[in-house]
Amino acid sequence: MTDRYASFVRSGAGRALVKRLGLPDPPRLRRHTPGDPLLTGPALLGAATGGRLAGPVGTILTAAGVELRDPATADAQERFGALVYDATGITDSTGLRQLYDFFHPRARAVLPGGRVIVLGTPPDECGTPREATAQRALEGLTRSIGKEFGRGVTAQLVHVTAHGDAGTATGLEATLRFLLSGRSAYVSGQVVRVGAGAAEPPADWDRPLDGQVVLVTGAARGIGAALARVLARDGAQVVALDIPAAGDELAAVANEIGGTAVQLDLTAPDAPARLAEHLASRHGRVDVVVHNAGITRDRTLGRMDADRWDSVIDVNLSSQERINDVLLERGLIPAGGRIVSVSSIAGIAGNRGQTNYATSKAGVIGLVQSLAPALRERGISVNAVAPGFIETRLTARIPLVVREAGRRMNSMAQGGLPVDVAETIGWLAWPASGAVSGNVVRVCGQSLLGA
Ligand code: NAD
Repeated sequence: MTDRYASFVRSGAGRALVKRLGLPDPPRLRRHTPGDPLLTGPALLGAATGGRLAGPVGTILTAAGVELRDPATADAQERFGALVYDATGITDSTGLRQLYDFFHPRARAVLPGGRVIVLGTPPDECGTPREATAQRALEGLTRSIGKEFGRGVTAQLVHVTAHGDAGTATGLEATLRFLLSGRSAYVSGQVVRVGAGAAEPPADWDRPLDGQVVLVTGAARGIGAALARVLARDGAQVVALDIPAAGDELAAVANEIGGTAVQLDLTAPDAPARLAEHLASRHGRVDVVVHNAGITRDRTLGRMDADRWDSVIDVNLSSQERINDVLLERGLIPAGGRIVSVSSIAGIAGNRGQTNYATSKAGVIGLVQSLAPALRERGISVNAVAPGFIETRLTARIPLVVREAGRRMNSMAQGGLPVDVAETIGWLAWPASGAVSGNVVRVCGQSLLGA
């Protein structure tokens, strides 16, 4: 589906009109192509007094080919691909002034498509109420920068556990690479929690999923098809699953990426057993399970028949539980395995006409948050992504006025693309992302809904 308004405002006549009338001005987002450098300019790395992460982060960024600048010596006229600030040293609200001192002079120094990353300590790990208060305050700064800077600049807060390997912080590398790169084009205003645990970097960061067997449900079209393509591009062997009625589209996707196609209705009583059998006999395991298949059957609650309720809960939530149970019981997800479930911002904010859908998608968040601690010992991570307005057939069916509102009411003033959700799921699926578990990451361009 095309966003005609965005094409128009990028034309000469459109630009003039948008400026004159103060209309939304969707920037062209910086998206990833293999071989791209992480950033389009140098990164300015600053730290509050006593910060524990600036050292290891500097090492990670330099090794990733990022040119680093020091706030004490940087040229006042220079513009940056990223501003990265280690705020872990802030232990009291009076220390928040250091944020102002770092960001205020550089509010206009970030290049289009640039990145702002603030590193903090999870408030529940802080030693004193004052430290927890100051660390919680970082969210307000980061989310506001995401709304203010514009031009496709994203801003995130990364909570890094104080119990991790502070010397090298290797578990943080995958997350930093994702957030700095064009892969995170439509992710902004998020708080990502990185836990303890060292990580082994891949041999090639352009193929972070090399050799991984990945199951993608609902892979025939939309976000699932983009997922299959992105994960295969990143080196995965993809098992693409969809209903038999979508068999032709599914086969086309699987052929294009050299993957295999499985025609299966996830709600069939024997689906989990058949799927487990297929994975066991063909691959002996499944390293990554992406629960993407989903349906909507919208009606306000008073007008909703029980079939609409049941089918949405079954496809979007219960089938995920049944499949996880069988794959885990049979030991088909090995240590280092990844489960990623697709939720929705409707599961966070609720939505008129979508009680069934929002219930199922909030349930997905519950599933991830309850399963993550239980599987931590087995080395399996469990995370969810919550897409906002993504340009697919699903959103093309929304009536025009509501559709335009959904598209524009976010910091990017545009809808996301299926590839944006796929890149985010890809990051959570990387073997190097094991320190990220129990997170719900919105891919919504910092939508005002449920914010
Ligand atoms: P889509 O309708 O284009 O694709 C969903 C796919 O799932 C289809 O190919 C469909 O055949 C498959 N599927 C449905 N029921 C199935 C079943 N019983 N067994 C096997 N496969 C089944 O939708 P999409 O927009 O690509 O959405 C993908 C996921 O993202 C869904 O979980 C959806 O709820 C979620 N999501 C989408 C948006 C958006 O803006 N498009 C926003 C938030 C969340």
